Amino acid sequence: TEACLSQIEGAGALNAFVHHTPDIAREQARAADTRIKAGDAPAMCGIPLGIKDLFCTKGVPSQAASRILEGFKPEYESTVTQNLFDAGAIMLGKLNMDEFAMGSSNETSVYGNAVNPWRRGNDDAALTPGGSSGGSASAVAADLCLAATGTDTGGSIRQPAAFTGITGIKPTYGRCSRWGVVAFASSLDQAGPMTKSVRDAAIMLSAMCSHDPKDSTSADFPVPDFEAALTGDIKGKVIGIPKEYRMEGMPAEIEQLWADGTAMLKAAGAEIRDISLPHTKYALPAYYVIAPAEASSNLARYDGVRYGHRAKLAQGDGITEMYEKTRAEGFGHEVQRRVMVGTYVLSAGFYDAYYNRARRVRALIKRDFDQAFDAGVDAILTPATPSAAFGLGEMKDADPVQMYLNDVFTVTVNLAGLPGISVPAGIDTQGLPLGLQLIGRPWEEGDLLNTAYALE
Ligand code: GLN
Repeated sequence: TEACLSQIEGAGALNAFVHHTPDIAREQARAADTRIKAGDAPAMCGIPLGIKDLFCTKGVPSQAASRILEGFKPEYESTVTQNLFDAGAIMLGKLNMDEFAMGSSNETSVYGNAVNPWRRGNDDAALTPGGSSGGSASAVAADLCLAATGTDTGGSIRQPAAFTGITGIKPTYGRCSRWGVVAFASSLDQAGPMTKSVRDAAIMLSAMCSHDPKDSTSADFPVPDFEAALTGDIKGKVIGIPKEYRMEGMPAEIEQLWADGTAMLKAAGAEIRDISLPHTKYALPAYYVIAPAEASSNLARYDGVRYGHRAKLAQGDGITEMYEKTRAEGFGHEVQRRVMVGTYVLSAGFYDAYYNRARRVRALIKRDFDQAFDAGVDAILTPATPSAAFGLGEMKDADPVQMYLNDVFTVTVNLAGLPGISVPAGIDTQGLPLGLQLIGRPWEEGDLLNTAYALE
């Protein structure tokens, strides 16, 4: 813990940690020492973590990287962080992210972006750590903590993991409790670990998940020991290669990475099978209707009355002006865009044309996966991202849809509620890490982690 705290002090330029909690960390570390001495130490005991700012942590600023939650210190602890602390884990501080987890580059944060510790060849230009869990990815990659929590609504664990050469898993929807995790799109949001290895991910995921009566979508299943699933044996497993993920204009390096990963799994004894997931091309548009729709509803609670920031009012301003001014000042541009899109697609005249249609597309996407699994496929291998980490500021003036294209390989998994993992799988010609994604059957994270283990 002390080593991490001093490492963090020297790494301010990465802007990964946005709130520091050294006192809490030292107190938890002392308690962990006592448990270890008493011989009562689960695997997470004494492990120093960073916590994404989206998690409510009791008495500690939890702002979802938004101005509107300025000064907000929750009265309660999220179930996931409580589970980790009960297992003896240590919180070093809160990690940077895109505002309300909306973004793929960490550039929508009120704290300014986190920075990727990797550089392109000899070029000094700062690169994005990805988003929205960019602070988590940067902190783990730069050894500021041993692991971090992330959340993934459309790729926010897997894309930053791929951009920084670390491992990140989004479990099956319902595996981790959403209680105390600031809501973005409730039917898609899941927490998960971001770690240096598949084994660490397995250990941390077991500690994070639990059945939680406080989240009505939390699954009432026993929590498996995911580490025990890591046998390294994947003989006879069927790996699906979906042809629809071979996008036009895909860089040759990504093609190569995918082919190399396929060859590795084959060499380990897996059977490789070409499959089709025909509705893949509709996933991104469906996601960018459903996610903003749910976000516009979830974000209605930030009204200047109950939490955080409230705008200064002028003489004669009423409650409507208070809402308008507070929300105009408190939300950044991307969040405002999502609220507008979401409100539009949910409005009476457009509900059927957009929201209902997107929901039907979502069901078809899920059916594609179900059919593949029913036909005997155990896991599906795809690239995690369409490119390596890009330069900070590079996308600033681009059409927002350019940024959304980053999520093309990851959003299907959230729409279908499946577990997905990104593992570091190679280095591109400029020296940047690339990730491969494995998608698994629901509730079979152990199997998925084991397949990822064979790729490591
Ligand atoms: N980049 C996606 C978005 O902006 C995904 C975000 C996430 O997974 N939290 O919505």
